[in-house]
Amino acid sequence: MGSAPDRPAGEVVELLSELIRNACVNDGTADSGHEHRSADVLSQYLGETGLDVARVTARPGRDNLVARIEGWDPTAPTLLLLGHTDVVPVSPGGWSRDPFGGEVVDGEVWGRGAVDMLNMTASMAVAMRHLASQNFRPRGTLVYAAVADEEALGTWGAGHLVEHEGDAVRADYVITEAGGFQVPTAAGPRLPVMVAEKGYYWCRITVAGTPGHASQPFATDNAVITAAEVVRRLADYRPEARIDPWWRRFVDGVFPDLSGPLTDAQGLDALCGELPVALGRLTHACTHTTLAPTVIHGGTKTNVIPDEVTVEIDIRTLPGQQTRDIERMLDDALGDLRAAVTITVVDDNGSTASPADTALWQTLGRVSSRLVEGSALVPFLSVGATDARFFRRAGSVAYGFALFSRRLGYEDYAAMFHGNDERVDVDSLALTTALWEATAIDLLTAS
Ligand SMILES: [Zn+2]
Repeated sequence: MGSAPDRPAGEVVELLSELIRNACVNDGTADSGHEHRSADVLSQYLGETGLDVARVTARPGRDNLVARIEGWDPTAPTLLLLGHTDVVPVSPGGWSRDPFGGEVVDGEVWGRGAVDMLNMTASMAVAMRHLASQNFRPRGTLVYAAVADEEALGTWGAGHLVEHEGDAVRADYVITEAGGFQVPTAAGPRLPVMVAEKGYYWCRITVAGTPGHASQPFATDNAVITAAEVVRRLADYRPEARIDPWWRRFVDGVFPDLSGPLTDAQGLDALCGELPVALGRLTHACTHTTLAPTVIHGGTKTNVIPDEVTVEIDIRTLPGQQTRDIERMLDDALGDLRAAVTITVVDDNGSTASPADTALWQTLGRVSSRLVEGSALVPFLSVGATDARFFRRAGSVAYGFALFSRRLGYEDYAAMFHGNDERVDVDSLALTTALWEATAIDLLTAS
């Protein structure tokens, strides 16, 4: 297979536009999403070739779809191509085109989900159908799943499948979002593979005070004032930088000239402040536990000294960190105020990681270097949560990966993720489709 994918991209463009037009918007409520619309489209599209397609519905309207091409050797590995069909809401005023129009303009498909991640969900289905129509009979099994509810907590999608339909989706290797944008370097394009993702620890800090008349505030126990100090301490808290092996490898591959300073834990905080802001922010998030106070509620009336304020904190954890590590950080950050507040854990969802240098890593490296000339893989960390976490916890090696053309660089990609004017170019769709087919053939037919 040459560097220019030979398949006309029309099929994936058409399917992607249709998924965009289905507008499966997940606003976080249980009855949003309506992913049955895209499950219908995909089950018809895949079913036409005689593929074995199953629907799994944990809640009416929130349909998941699983299709498989059974391998002939039960000892050979199973590969799961995992896409989600839901998308996040839009702010229509910020868009220059209809966010749910699925229009193709100047070689790009426009609409919510074009990069997160209907592009992958559609191209995975096209590859699956193409392989099935060629009577692909691999040694290992190929599974495709299009799931609901990734943009909330995965309760009706990947979480449900792994917990209740394990046999349908169990896989040695899983590929899902995100990654694979080309990072240009002097040595050739580097392609980040998400081998891990940060965990999240969401908690609520309740600060108590003593109510009283606000006309005599001297020496009162005002919960708003204590909460302000709690927030200040959290904002000032500086968790230590941690230089993990994957980060070293990423920096060596992408910023070889900066590999000294970018892997120096002592100087890294100062360096983050000197980098361009987006890069500094990402570098910081990849090497630190982060704490962000995000919501504050308190007080009842202008003339009443408040007796309760709650502060919500979004903490993002690094691979290997345990709940007790986070509790210790909160103790450190709050100091003598720790005893004066109550901390309630809202959600504690640990980080997950897969090793690099697996058979899947080797396959993706081989296949990508054929599709993107001179490219090489580098490991990277997803700072947000994806459905990969459910599969890693169930024992799978899960990576976030795809391929994008040079037209869609990291900055555009990052800005469009949950942003305005989301769109993907047709060349990227063709590259990604070719990637799935070649990956399935390489990994599942090897002896
Ligand atoms: Zn996504």
